[in-house]
Amino acid sequence: MKSSDIRRSFLDFWSARGHRVVPSAPLVPHGDPSLLFVNAGMVPFKNYFLGQEPPPSPRAVSVQKCVRVSGKHNDLENVGPSVRHHTFFEMLGNFSFGDYFKEEAIRGAWELVTRVWGIPVERLTATVFEEDDEAHALWLALSSLPPERVRRCGREDNFWAMGETGPCGPCSEIFVDLHPERPPVPWQEGTGSGRYLEIWNLVFMQYERAAPAAGSPSGELHPLPRPSIDTGAGLERVASVLQGVDSNYDTDLFRPLLAAAAELAGIRYGGGDPESDVALRVIADHLRAVTFLLADGVIPGNEGRGYVLRRLLRRAVRHGMRIGFEEPFLHRLVPVLGEVMGADYIELAATRQASMATLQAEEEKFRSTVANGARQVQEEIERLRAAGQSTLPGPMVFRLYDTYGLPIDVIREIAEEERFRVDEAGFSAALETQREQSRRATQEVQSRLAALREVVRGHADIAETRFEGYDRTELLGGQAEVVRLAAWKDGAPVRVATLSAGQSGVAVLDQTVYYPESGGQVGDSGRIVWDGGSARVADTQKDGAGVIYHFVEVEEGELSRHARVDLRVDHELRLATQRNHTATHLLHAALRQVLGKSVRQAGSLVAPDRLRFDFTYHRGLFRKEQEEVEDLVNEWIRRAVPTDVVSRSYQEAIAAGAMALFGEKYGDRVRTVAVPGFSLELCGGCHVHSTGEIGLFLVESERGVASGVRRIEAVTGAYALAEVRRLRTAYSELVARLGIRSGDYEQQLQKAEQLRQQRDQLEHEMRRLRMQLVSGGPAAADGEMMVDGVRVLAREVPPAPAGELRDMADALRAKIGSGVVVIGTRGEDTVSLVAAVSKDLTARIKAGELVKTLSSVVGGRGGGRADFAQAGGREPDKLPQALAAVEAAVREQLAR
Ligand code: ATP
Ligand code: MG
Repeated sequence: MKSSDIRRSFLDFWSARGHRVVPSAPLVPHGDPSLLFVNAGMVPFKNYFLGQEPPPSPRAVSVQKCVRVSGKHNDLENVGPSVRHHTFFEMLGNFSFGDYFKEEAIRGAWELVTRVWGIPVERLTATVFEEDDEAHALWLALSSLPPERVRRCGREDNFWAMGETGPCGPCSEIFVDLHPERPPVPWQEGTGSGRYLEIWNLVFMQYERAAPAAGSPSGELHPLPRPSIDTGAGLERVASVLQGVDSNYDTDLFRPLLAAAAELAGIRYGGGDPESDVALRVIADHLRAVTFLLADGVIPGNEGRGYVLRRLLRRAVRHGMRIGFEEPFLHRLVPVLGEVMGADYIELAATRQASMATLQAEEEKFRSTVANGARQVQEEIERLRAAGQSTLPGPMVFRLYDTYGLPIDVIREIAEEERFRVDEAGFSAALETQREQSRRATQEVQSRLAALREVVRGHADIAETRFEGYDRTELLGGQAEVVRLAAWKDGAPVRVATLSAGQSGVAVLDQTVYYPESGGQVGDSGRIVWDGGSARVADTQKDGAGVIYHFVEVEEGELSRHARVDLRVDHELRLATQRNHTATHLLHAALRQVLGKSVRQAGSLVAPDRLRFDFTYHRGLFRKEQEEVEDLVNEWIRRAVPTDVVSRSYQEAIAAGAMALFGEKYGDRVRTVAVPGFSLELCGGCHVHSTGEIGLFLVESERGVASGVRRIEAVTGAYALAEVRRLRTAYSELVARLGIRSGDYEQQLQKAEQLRQQRDQLEHEMRRLRMQLVSGGPAAADGEMMVDGVRVLAREVPPAPAGELRDMADALRAKIGSGVVVIGTRGEDTVSLVAAVSKDLTARIKAGELVKTLSSVVGGRGGGRADFAQAGGREPDKLPQALAAVEAAVREQLAR
């Protein structure tokens, strides 16, 4: 059975039993910052299990992409040596959200495994949680397994949990004996060796584990509102069983990848070298993980998801280096993966080019890091060895690791080859110190808001601030009330009852029209006014709980808690910001239309005076593409389409085709902003009512900011007009200064071109004249002499660029045939000297030495070859003196 048939058989089996087929969710979980990646089939359904959201259907079936490289489920170190663990794998799962429970789950699994997949009963074993008598009885009743093959097992293996907190429950696992022809072995031994392979886990979800608390360090178990079913079977393992092979890597999912990698490396998988085999497996495994992560919008970086991706990628490259890859190779395997899995995962084709380019760039960067770093290590070792040492000190290792980004195992390897030790304890200590420091640094950034939150909120929690500013920028009539106030004291916030004139602080209101910075849109500024006073609002921020902070400076009067105030946002600035925000959406849509769907937003800044949009793309834009994007955006502006803002469920929004940002947390209800017919995005920001308000959209720059990430900066509205005007002014200034103002644009360009040609001609002519002057003119005899039978020419020449000076010396040397030429020229406060000696004399006279002697006269230094040398100096007045010294200098050399 091919792996694609296994997927299909699973989906068909359960959908025939009333399960809704749900496509795999992206690897980046939405709305769950506690989880780096989706690590099980149930993750996208978590809210249904917790009863936080009603499921669209009580039963579901899916084939879900999973990554297990962090947190509770981390199989990274297992990959390679283990032939049944992957960093990325597919999980087949059927789910009941408070619908059926243990009985139907067990009956279905048994039928699928034995009848549809045809695994012989003699090869199967089921395990249950030792306290779960119900499951034990059900297996005996519903299957034809003999009692000794329904095993009771401990909490360790048969109590499943998604993470430290969250849904959990007892489970029942199905095992397959990979070698029924061999005599049975004890259970522990068999599962440890992989002879008895776990393929499917049926989780009877009954509880939710709360966060740890005093008195309950592991968190209390609360029964879930309705017991549910969550199952997971690893596709790769099922495939290995159904395809009759001993390892996941021998299935149709991996073989093409291993073969391609081996061929590129010029080795053979299974060729007898276990270490190469491990390396090939790691490469094949990690390639799948990084390619799927890239396809789901993760970008290599230094923290969070991006860092995990980068580590996987580098780990694969390190293994590649071990089997002899000297050039970037990972990206070359991407098309192979496309062939294997592209039919089932369309995102692979859509992102192929971008992923390849990112992989290649990342690998190149990493390889040069390693090469440079390795050189550094070698140098350090040589230095230490010369000093009689044989250990690389911890701080030094840390510096190589930290500053040069050299992986610690590379350092260890080199040290080992050189029979050096690594001071591991010293390294760990240095690492810990740095971690501590960076923890403190991040805390500092966070502390402004965190401290504020604490101070402002105190013990009594305050409700989230109502935001009323989508459709207006004023709230008058004293409708808003000051709830809390804080002032700054030595840079830290302190809670106060009043802020007096001249004082800066922070105000929290019960409601506001000030938009707090979020989703790339900057916070509003403006003025708060009350009876007898006013305050300037410089910025607005929001915390995770939705409390909005106005950063104010009181201008006059006194602002006190419970005061009723009028709010006025800087209207023009807000309008300008709205223009840029809607324009950002148009730009996003236009980029996807012009460059393809692989374009994804990677970040944005929406300010009143400009917008910045970062997106994934593997190369710079051609001018034509950039213009096309600009045209398209402006076309949608001219159409003056009314924007359409709707609040709806996340599912509905996504189903309608809304673009969501990866890594962004979305609630159940989301706000969508549409430019109907062109753009639909999840967005909480402020927008124009009609695209026509944007007026004009102008791209100012396009450049790369990280591997695979481009940045466009643009302006709109009055700022775009100002930009056009600035260019126009600069242009007319330019033509005025060049004296080519008359005529139209084309004619001016022609005139500029003529000017350039004229200048070139003049330069050429001057050069010719200067040459003539030194070599052939009436002054030619000047400075020529015979010194002990050698012809010597020492002469000052008119100012000329360095290159020309060399040519002059050459020409003069050629002209005198055999002899010595020294020419010098002076500028305002510099002097240049060139000496040339004909070939027949270089044994006796060295130009380099000559120049050294002469340059000391003009306060400079120089040197060069025996036949040609040059020098510079800082005392132009001394040039005649230097030239006068030529005769003596030549004589001296000849006398040796
Ligand atoms: P194991 O003990 O073998 O690591 P597990 O108990 O962690 O497995 P579950 O979390 O119950 O596995 O996941 C359900 C199924 O997903 C497993 O039965 C297995 O088929 C598959 N699976 C789990 N982890 C991996 C992995 N790292 N690579 C491939 N398949 C996996
Ligand atoms: Mg596991």
